[in-house]
Amino acid sequence: MQVTRELFNDVMVPNYNPSEVIPVRGEGSRVWDQNGKEFIDFAGGIAVNCLGHCHPALVNALKEQGEKIWHLSNVMTNEPALRLAKKLTDATFADKVYFANSGAEANEAALKLARRWALDVHGEQKNQIIAFNKGFHGRTFFTVTVGGQAAYSDGFGPKPAAIDHCDYNDLAAFEALISDNTCAVMMEPLQGEGGIISPTSDFIKGVRALCDKHNALLIFDEVQTGVGRTGALYAYQDLDVTPDILTTAKALGGGFPIGAMITKADIAEHLKVGTHGSTYGGNPLACAVAEAAFDTVNTPGVLAGVKEREQLLRDGLKAINEKYDVFSEVRGKGLLLGAVLNSKYEGRSRDFLVASTQHGLMSLVAGTNVVRFTPSLVIPLEDIKEGLARFEKAVADVVNG
Ligand SMILES: *Cc1c(COP(=O)(O)O)cnc(C)c1O
Repeated sequence: MQVTRELFNDVMVPNYNPSEVIPVRGEGSRVWDQNGKEFIDFAGGIAVNCLGHCHPALVNALKEQGEKIWHLSNVMTNEPALRLAKKLTDATFADKVYFANSGAEANEAALKLARRWALDVHGEQKNQIIAFNKGFHGRTFFTVTVGGQAAYSDGFGPKPAAIDHCDYNDLAAFEALISDNTCAVMMEPLQGEGGIISPTSDFIKGVRALCDKHNALLIFDEVQTGVGRTGALYAYQDLDVTPDILTTAKALGGGFPIGAMITKADIAEHLKVGTHGSTYGGNPLACAVAEAAFDTVNTPGVLAGVKEREQLLRDGLKAINEKYDVFSEVRGKGLLLGAVLNSKYEGRSRDFLVASTQHGLMSLVAGTNVVRFTPSLVIPLEDIKEGLARFEKAVADVVNG
């Protein structure tokens, strides 16, 4: 069978509009398409492929576990899941882990746990969930409603109730919204999809203090920031603020679908037997791959390497900007970086992405105004230089029309 981009239009639901390029093979931070054209990967499958493509540690884990046992369901537990849970709790504030298959599902579990905790401990009036405009928490109906983009949550009928939003980094607006009836606050400790927006220190510490004052749970959605992306194992560890619940997915599996919600024991106990679940969640195959990814990323060398690579990328983008004057700033942290287009190029992030693809570079956007880069955490320095050279050609194309 000949597989072409046209076949997508014939057989797929039209909720995506993928590129014409169909990649067939990857190695490290290089990818090849059906025609043998080579790409440098600055996208990392949207901040997922934290160790690039076909990293030997992940391939080994997949093969080894693939010849042992793939799936059991939660009627029985399994060794890889328990080992991974032990490592997650040893490395973080958390005591307990719930496994899911995606970021949205981890967030769904976090929100349901928060509502159940509030009902059990405080009563049914404590049900308000606060989140932030431009936030992104996934596409299930609960998580997309908590996310701060009405365009994603409108048009599906009645929404889950008692969810309110205010602007990120606006502590006064948040203080006006929170009360003793707030059960949880969900936020990204660096907004990704919303445009690569870092929290100010006063804001994120203020949110924590107000959650404490009103007995509300603070949920950090680290689906994009987690597992080394910002240069810390989890972003909260660099921010001097500890959440009550944290969700992690994307890079956790290094390309294999898995998500997790982690929390303290006294909160976890409210998800009693039967209250929540997932057929695939905590599947041995997924957990074995995630364990290998986690072990590889959670080392001083890899985490320090993220900062080194951030600097190289920032320096390269700065040099390109000095020549072409297209960005107003480069923001973000670690290898979650956003080049913000200046007023002359406002709304044209997709043009930069398309030009990059033409020159053999995979990149991303975060909204219409930000070109986003989320490469592998171990991308070779040579590939960063080559990727920047290709990006410069793409920028030149856009600038020269
Ligand atoms: C990607 C993302 C999600 C959703 O994850 P899925 O695996 O697509 O469900 C949730 N929150 C944040 C912050 C994300 O970046």
